[in-house]
Amino acid sequence: MPPTNHDAFWMPFTANRQFRKTPRMLVAAKDMHYTAEDGTQVLDGCAGLWCVNAGHNRPKITEAVQKAIATLDFAPTFQMGHPLAFEAADRIAKLAPADLNHVFFCNSGSEAADTALKMAIAYHRIRGDAARTRFIGRERGYHGVGFGGISVGGISGNRKLYGTMLGGVDHLPHTHDPARNAFSRGLPTHGEELADALERIVALHDPSTIASVIVEPMAGSTGVLPPPVGYLKRLREICDKYGILLIFDEVITGFGRMGGTAFAAEKFGVTPDIITCAKGITNGTIPMGAAIARDHVFETFMQGPEAGIEFPHGYTYSGHPVACAASIATLDTYAEEGLFERAEELAPYFEDAVHSLRGLPHVIDIRNIGLVGAVELEARTGAPGTRGYEVFDRAFRDGLLLRVTGDTLAISPPLIINKAQIDELFGKLGAVLRDTE
Ligand code: PMP
Repeated sequence: MPPTNHDAFWMPFTANRQFRKTPRMLVAAKDMHYTAEDGTQVLDGCAGLWCVNAGHNRPKITEAVQKAIATLDFAPTFQMGHPLAFEAADRIAKLAPADLNHVFFCNSGSEAADTALKMAIAYHRIRGDAARTRFIGRERGYHGVGFGGISVGGISGNRKLYGTMLGGVDHLPHTHDPARNAFSRGLPTHGEELADALERIVALHDPSTIASVIVEPMAGSTGVLPPPVGYLKRLREICDKYGILLIFDEVITGFGRMGGTAFAAEKFGVTPDIITCAKGITNGTIPMGAAIARDHVFETFMQGPEAGIEFPHGYTYSGHPVACAASIATLDTYAEEGLFERAEELAPYFEDAVHSLRGLPHVIDIRNIGLVGAVELEARTGAPGTRGYEVFDRAFRDGLLLRVTGDTLAISPPLIINKAQIDELFGKLGAVLRDTE
């Protein structure tokens, strides 16, 4: 630990005092590994924080960042432009499915969520539907930490300290149903009908008051919950029926995580009106997020006087040149190395590996899709989260980085992982689980 004031860095989403006693410090990273402060090589089982999809410290991305920062360190994008922003947007639009052709840049997944929510209300207002201000999120949804994001999000722990949320928000039920879907592989069979809750919420209010529905195609942060077969299509149908915009938060699912396609929307054959993304957009190297809108959304904004600012929204660092350079080099790397296809090819091997942990002590559920999986442990009576934390901490000391939420361990390695490393990852996790009280 640094010798000085240990409390200076107020750590996010961290038990700060607990951390100070047994710190976990990372000092370097390359490809599939971190180096811990004591020199231990740590296999990265969660792509940093679900973001380093091409593995760490890739020279092409590093060099692009270095070149960009030495050429155009900053340029405003309010009433000004620079080529990298137009190029990055074009590249992302080409990766996005259907007519999701218009990229609004921001700096994080949280900002992308709030951008999309504002875009949805403004869209309806411009079209004369000023009453459409309500949002529908989902229990166990995570859309970052802005007031919009926590309001539509469904994690009470992220809300209860903060008082009044955004008004006019309802929540769909979450889709986690271990009684029917435990140990499912890929999309769970049961639960399509949970989308019909949207009909009931719409019926509670006048449909003409609802601006948008926002969901993660696969809930990530609350424990990896792939959507039940047919569920997302059903949501789309109901949104279409009532003129409600559908937003997919693809901050985790974007950029190949599901295998085969850049975005989950394409993988699941459902086109939302807006996709939000971040994380893998720059391989985690430079903060960046985006809200990607379909033609009809963008065109709605482009109808007023030509000299008018169409969307009074944006950030100093929207389309930051260094982030744009990082993103272009990242997308090049994904394409050159075929990493989305690679994720799809490896998915069955990964699936067998994660399900091989079934039967180990305290394992009550295992879920997976693409190159993401979760192992859910039985919570200790009266002490939820402690078992999950212990496994996470022990695994780290044994050279494996995972993500823990409550008693669920999430595994989402960089897409460059190979079979031997998948074996190593689950070998290590299995050993820790066998040893856990
Ligand atoms: N949405 C989803 C689905 C996420 O998983 C996350 C981050 N884990 C966010 C939004 C927020 O992103 P950020 O932390 O970059 O604000």
